[in-house]
Amino acid sequence: MSVIDLRSDTVTQPTAGMLDAMANAATGDDVYGEDPTVNRLEAELARRLGFAAALFVPTGTMSNLLSLMAHCERGDEYIVGQQAHTYKYEGGGAAVLGSIQPQPLEVQADGSLDLAQVAAAIKPDDFHFARSRLLALENTMQGKVLPLEYLAQARRFTREYGLALHLDGARLYNAAVKLGVDAREITQHFDSVSVCLSKGLGAPVGSVLCGTAEFIAKARRLRKMVGGGMRQAGILAAAGLYALDNNIQRLADDHANAQLLGEGLRAAGYEVEPVQTNMVYVKMGDKAEAIKAFAATRGIKLSAAARLRMVTHMDVSRAQIEQVVATFVEFSRN
Ligand SMILES: *Cc1c(COP(=O)(O)O)cnc(C)c1O
Repeated sequence: MSVIDLRSDTVTQPTAGMLDAMANAATGDDVYGEDPTVNRLEAELARRLGFAAALFVPTGTMSNLLSLMAHCERGDEYIVGQQAHTYKYEGGGAAVLGSIQPQPLEVQADGSLDLAQVAAAIKPDDFHFARSRLLALENTMQGKVLPLEYLAQARRFTREYGLALHLDGARLYNAAVKLGVDAREITQHFDSVSVCLSKGLGAPVGSVLCGTAEFIAKARRLRKMVGGGMRQAGILAAAGLYALDNNIQRLADDHANAQLLGEGLRAAGYEVEPVQTNMVYVKMGDKAEAIKAFAATRGIKLSAAARLRMVTHMDVSRAQIEQVVATFVEFSRN
């Protein structure tokens, strides 16, 4: 029985083509700036997303941390979603390691932050307060795509208020594919962007942070400080380059599979949130542990949550999605 793992899009295994690219990668010591494949990946993403420079890092968490620390000094503040990864799911790193104060705000239904609320949260220039320095957005946000018009507003807003604007674009390409636009249409509004190669793009490891040359030079220094300076990292960067060349447009398949899953579960009587990209949220209430255990007997790996998140990815086929729907139907009959 092949396992169907819907817990996250981080569970994908590298394909034969990707492993081949990794095995054949030219490498050097990246701390000396001498790994040609890392240099190529950084240049490629900077070019694709419209930035002067980029930095390859092991994880999205490190990428976001370096960005927050490069934008903010000790005693500065970043404004961020209460449910955002950079605030809620990174171990409080900005505060612990950067001495940066978060100012979390409730995320709106569409995944955005209300700019009037952001304006109200910005602190006056007064020594009682932390210095508001940065607004951090996330796209996709729990599978939701932020409207391009909102991003343009956020750009104008942050210029007006003197804030920098960072994007946690762990799933930037899911948003771009969903909108049917070049990723640059999204990234053009930001001062810095972090992209994960290890989510839907299918690489085993890696994220890339993009920004100005000065910003990336600062982030590079910080990367060494937090222990993220890797040596012959070209074998990992090769997987990222392969992912950029081969795995972007196919994200549309994951989105179609998520739609299919959402519709199937809705037809079976489940309460499903509207599906936009590769995430399906279903209300399981007190049945969270029971469905997880039941699905496990059918070879399906789920998280246990009252608001259950299921994530489609390249290692889950359409036929397997039909199996998952059938399993939920069977569960609801019991
Ligand atoms: C996964 C993720 C990250 C961080 O990724 P890691 O590589 O797991 O550290 C950051 N932001 C978002 C929105 C993510 O989904």
